[in-house]
Amino acid sequence: MRFCTYQLSGEPRLGIVAGQAVVDLRALARRRRLPAAPETMVDLIAEVPTLELRVLAREAAAWVSAGREAVPLSRARLLAPIPRPRKNIVCMGRNYVEHARETGNVPPAVPVFFTKPPTAVVGPDAPVRHHAVTQQLDYEVELVAVIGRRGSNISPERALDYVFGYTVMIDVTARDLQERHAQWFKGKSLDTFAPLGPWIVHRSAVPDPQQLRLSMRVNGETRQQSTTANMIFTVAQLLSVLSAGMTLEPGDLLATGTPEGVAKGMKTPKWLQPGDVMEAEIEGIGVLRNRVIAPR
Ligand code: MN
Repeated sequence: MRFCTYQLSGEPRLGIVAGQAVVDLRALARRRRLPAAPETMVDLIAEVPTLELRVLAREAAAWVSAGREAVPLSRARLLAPIPRPRKNIVCMGRNYVEHARETGNVPPAVPVFFTKPPTAVVGPDAPVRHHAVTQQLDYEVELVAVIGRRGSNISPERALDYVFGYTVMIDVTARDLQERHAQWFKGKSLDTFAPLGPWIVHRSAVPDPQQLRLSMRVNGETRQQSTTANMIFTVAQLLSVLSAGMTLEPGDLLATGTPEGVAKGMKTPKWLQPGDVMEAEIEGIGVLRNRVIAPR
């Protein structure tokens, strides 16, 4: 099951991706006389039971095979699946050994958390701005866990039950700002620095989040290529540590860190330039593509 947010007649709509098409979730629910459908992705995550999601997904597939009204994926204007998260995105620093080493750091003994603000979020194919304030723009492909249930003090054994699904994020980073300000928040948080998407894949379709190949291409050149098996702290461990004494809620986002291959790790860093096209791909989830554009 894949759920997206897309633009239809100038409005953000909730969609189900069925094969190569997007079906308007509310229209489908109305026509099939299904229980009232939610308007936003966070409402869907928080309110719709998995059983009902399955019915909707099945109906959407039947709808598309019957040749009914749907937008071909190739023409759909996808937005970030959660266009405006209610909180900052929680991110993990140095969660892959080789990435920690390439940036001159030792692998951490405990998870290193930082956040990116909701204002940094953009969707698939949206431009990422090369703000004038940085000369060292970098890319990081990351698996994102989308929280499905409210909870705190979650055990690692039960943590994945709290996940609604998974998506992809490019953790765009201004390395010079990241270093200049000591704390990472500023260099990670500029507008457009959190491309998210292309959709959320329900966890039922991702049996093991630690067995996914992930890669980053810049202008078609593979820069990062690894597997989530190389994470130092698993998604389940991260959720457990993060939720200790701290409530997680439906729609919260956890980005799980990036593998080696970033520009900063190169002898002569290939910083992102205006015109560059980033393609972040995670097995079983999809490709998130964003182009870098010039400063204003
Ligand atoms: Mn990162």
